[in-house]
Amino acid sequence: MTDIEREAIRRTKLFLFDLDGTLYLGNRLFDFTEELLDTIKASGKRYMFMTNNSSKGIGSYIEKMASLGIGTDKDDYITSSQATSHYISEKYPDKHFYVCGTRSFYDELASSGVSVCDDILKSDAIVMGFDTELTFKKLDDVCSLLCKKDVPYIASHPDMVCPTEYGSVPDCGSVCDMVYNATGKRPDAVIGKPGILMPKLAMEKCGVLPSECAVVGDRLYTDVLCGINAKAYAVLVLSGETTPKILEGSNIKPDAVFKSAGEIIDALK
Ligand SMILES: [Mg+2]
Repeated sequence: MTDIEREAIRRTKLFLFDLDGTLYLGNRLFDFTEELLDTIKASGKRYMFMTNNSSKGIGSYIEKMASLGIGTDKDDYITSSQATSHYISEKYPDKHFYVCGTRSFYDELASSGVSVCDDILKSDAIVMGFDTELTFKKLDDVCSLLCKKDVPYIASHPDMVCPTEYGSVPDCGSVCDMVYNATGKRPDAVIGKPGILMPKLAMEKCGVLPSECAVVGDRLYTDVLCGINAKAYAVLVLSGETTPKILEGSNIKPDAVFKSAGEIIDALK
């Protein structure tokens, strides 16, 4: 780590961490994660976990982290579901949203005051999440409304695939592409990383400026680009998806590249 990088880390008041590939890999917690989170807390700084995955509620993340030995509570998270709820509530308070997403996504939207709807005939807007409970009926519903009318159409995040133990499965962006092939319509807004709404909400909540915030993650086109877009300190870690070769070939340039988020510990000591 260079002196400039060390200074930037020491100046940081809020760390926004990606999860998979950054703090754990699948079901394996990285060796440094517990010490890293403890060190940040002990330095009087704050961290939050920032995830694009809108298929699971915050409760499942708390459980997952607990199963890895890390205690967290709901204030430690900012998810694309929360940001999507916020966006819809601000921009479309009077619309009835048909939800193409999981039950927990539906419940999250409903509990934050979005008017959600199961019945496509009573809906006048569409919201798309990472739907691990997707059925052809839902695709048919979404296409039927988009073909008939110009209605607000929001997607929780742009990821094309979600990593699994065996490779990957289609994510929200891939389903949006299927819908585009059928209807010619793309979402009017895509909320999660690399968009700036999640870091913006997190910074507001913690009362910090972009210059006091670091976004740390293993994907260039979501995590790092999000940090750059939010004018935060954008840190790429090489413990997940991105290899040095991918980094070399990309035009997305992180402010810092660390082998892992564990390097932050030394900078704070
Ligand atoms: Mg990741």
